[in-house]
Amino acid sequence: MELNQFWEQVKAELISALPDNAHPWIYPLELSGYDKGVLTVVTGQAMGRDLLRKNHYRQIVEVIKNISGNPNSDFVIIYDVNAAKSLKKESDKIQKKATAAVQKEQAMENLAYMQSASNLNLKYKFENFVVGESNEFAYKVTKSVAEAPAQKFNPLFIYGNSGLGKTHLMQAVGHYTIFNNSKLKVKYTKLEDYLNDFISINRSGNAVENMSKFNKKYTNIDIILIDDIQFIEGKKKTMDQMQHTFDTLYNKGKQIVITSDRMPKDMPDLTAALSTRFEMGLMVELTPPDFQIRFEIIKKLAQNNDLKYTDEALKYIAKHFSKNVRELEGAFNKVCAFAEISEKELDLQLAKKVLKCDEIEDDISLEKIAQVTAKYYDVDINDIMGTARGAKVSTARHLSIYLSREITNKSFASIAEFYSKKHTTIMFAHEKIKKELPLKKELDEAVREIKQALKFI
Ligand code: ADP
Ligand code: MG
Repeated sequence: MELNQFWEQVKAELISALPDNAHPWIYPLELSGYDKGVLTVVTGQAMGRDLLRKNHYRQIVEVIKNISGNPNSDFVIIYDVNAAKSLKKESDKIQKKATAAVQKEQAMENLAYMQSASNLNLKYKFENFVVGESNEFAYKVTKSVAEAPAQKFNPLFIYGNSGLGKTHLMQAVGHYTIFNNSKLKVKYTKLEDYLNDFISINRSGNAVENMSKFNKKYTNIDIILIDDIQFIEGKKKTMDQMQHTFDTLYNKGKQIVITSDRMPKDMPDLTAALSTRFEMGLMVELTPPDFQIRFEIIKKLAQNNDLKYTDEALKYIAKHFSKNVRELEGAFNKVCAFAEISEKELDLQLAKKVLKCDEIEDDISLEKIAQVTAKYYDVDINDIMGTARGAKVSTARHLSIYLSREITNKSFASIAEFYSKKHTTIMFAHEKIKKELPLKKELDEAVREIKQALKFI
């Protein structure tokens, strides 16, 4: 993450977390540095330094921890009038370039807003979402919703098993809006938060007033992101209230994004009214990531960690954790911690030792891919390997070549050698299938089934 952005977010969160009387000391703080979890800031006010140190040190460290995700965060505040002045000049320059003042204010408000309701994770941006065959559609539609809210897919309903990136994609809409369209107000809420807020309306104080506050909080916005809606099932009153929130926002032309671990039709205790509403926009599924995506995800992590590693080790991890990205990341972190503590390179031997996974089958061979594809299309494997021309055989051959490239990461040259064909012929076949896949349902199905038969997924 860009350092200045990080600092802006820390500042915004401090403003929302600390009492009003501390704000005058927060605003003039200038970023001086950030190293190994320690955030250093400079102020031209000696009193500001003393009061923040004395009264709010712990809270400030907590905020830095939350935003950076680094448990060893610390905070140093230095009093230096000249340094504060020159740093201010610099940061003013940066800010002028970035956005107009009004927009910035709204961005800050949005940030505080999102954070107050959630553990907003700075990692959950579009830029950090690895895209590949299995999640491209979900990524594209979500991005298009961020770019043009309430114009295309409303509501956008993202569903899929746990740990596949639903929260990540959803929060990416929030981050995108904050940084690119900051005039809009965006709110992220877990269903749980919504539920608790709703329950507490009747708990204390004036219920009518509380209700109006509640409505304002959830409908006076441009984009609402509701995470894990499945927890609403069976809660009759909350469901009715959600219907009201939904209709209010929808009728005002506001964007609604929802995630769930299931489709509405698989939630028997959801009211029919809500079910219909959730289904009336676009529903998109996140499926387990293919090998290439898994590999890229941990490669990015390894690079961000400034870690010495071998691709072989990463491939081993990616191969053994295929169902859930959260578990994949967990496995990587475990190995990574071990490598750091023992001051060793993350290589295959270390990964195996730490994870102790059951050996799954060896790398799938080109031959096996050709065999399974031939069987799927009910053609002779010799025809796939040869030059026979019929439509069925050609498709089978092209697909087999395509899968060889996708599954094994072998080079075009070595695939060409295996098929005894020209390099360009292989590339052509690969490209052809790649283009046709999104258009031809039967091809897509064939890819899925053959991969399954190869136990690749
Ligand atoms: P869900 O909400 O579906 O349970 P999350 O969005 O919490 O899943 O994702 C779990 C973890 O996996 C997060 O750390 C997230 O950043 C990561 N993740 C999931 N998919 C991807 C992806 N395509 N690229 C990068 N990280 C991903
Ligand atoms: Mg989630």
